[in-house]
Amino acid sequence: MTLNQADLSFEDALASALAGTPPEERWLVPLLCSSDEDAPRLYREADRVRQQRVGDDVHLRALIEFSNYCKRNCSYCGLRHDNRRVDRYRMSIEDIERTALEAEELGYRTVVLQSGEDPWYTRDRMSEIIRRIRARTHMAITLSVGERDYDTYRAWREAGADRCLVRIETTDPALFRALHPDDDLEERKRCIVWLRDLGYQLGSGVMVGLPGQTPQMLARDVIWLHEVGAEMIGVGPFIPHPDTPLRQARGGTVEQTLRLVSVLRLAFPWAHLPATTAMGTLDPNGREKALQAGANVMMPNITPVSHRASYQIYPDKICTTDDAKTCASCVSGRLASIGRTIATDPGHVLRGADRQRAPVCDPPRRRLVVLP
Ligand code: SAH
Repeated sequence: MTLNQADLSFEDALASALAGTPPEERWLVPLLCSSDEDAPRLYREADRVRQQRVGDDVHLRALIEFSNYCKRNCSYCGLRHDNRRVDRYRMSIEDIERTALEAEELGYRTVVLQSGEDPWYTRDRMSEIIRRIRARTHMAITLSVGERDYDTYRAWREAGADRCLVRIETTDPALFRALHPDDDLEERKRCIVWLRDLGYQLGSGVMVGLPGQTPQMLARDVIWLHEVGAEMIGVGPFIPHPDTPLRQARGGTVEQTLRLVSVLRLAFPWAHLPATTAMGTLDPNGREKALQAGANVMMPNITPVSHRASYQIYPDKICTTDDAKTCASCVSGRLASIGRTIATDPGHVLRGADRQRAPVCDPPRRRLVVLP
């Protein structure tokens, strides 16, 4: 990868980032392109900032993949509408509610409701699901269901949803167009701005290693995420799916993604950054590596086992045979192995004065690592 004339050296770029310089290409690009020799320093510094700002606690978000129906045709995604090889399922309102109750019993403090873009879950149906979970649990509720209109997002917020995730995927107009035959970059950006204006804790993110994607594009993604005020940022390697138009693509790597995770921690010291399942899919220790390079969130799957294998956004997704309890204890063990603790609070994003109450420079805690 070639650097531009204006780009800083690795050392100067790292110094700029640590000095709190707002994200700009001249320090983002050199860090995203850091050599294998320099990268461990980038990871260490990001890990240190993570420890100082958000502490050693890892927030667990219990993920329910409640429908794999999708009306869209994103060229990277295994759930795309035209993929006839998917065994489609929808969970009923009652099943979703039951699964959420199970999550709370296991000790989770957040439930994430994720699906393809499935219009069966109308504004009213989804509101009902949110209200029921709100009424019967104390968990925070995160939505990850794609693009909807303003009034729908507003209704769901009023029903009790706390957070919403809509990854921008890429902010490069040509790349976005090439990947999304039936979507529009400006439309997606508008959704993300609405979510922010409606007071959702705002999640977004990108994939790494998309065909034709450059470090400069990733740098501009980071700048855009900063401008829009993203508070939770999920990034993962793109993993080509055999039943999609991008089956022949090369895909992203764990190393590229780790560099981005670290850069995000430096640019967004207070953000919630998940160690994503896609990292764990490419490398058995991928999620632990991310947690040691800036990440502080994990999303264990609690989807009923009967549906898991059918939610293949990318191939060989991990944990498709483990039940919710097995996933919980596996995750506890993984966190213990790297000396991290499980957060006991819901893990809301830290804004304004709340940041002062966050642990600053706490010595590593050795709390017993079991789900609280
Ligand atoms: N329909 C929802 C949820 C999408 S699934 C929405 O559009 O927001 C969550 C994320 O999985 C996507 O945003 C995308 O970034 C990621 N994803 C999809 N296909 C992938 C692939 N082949 N490799 C890696 N990540 C992928």
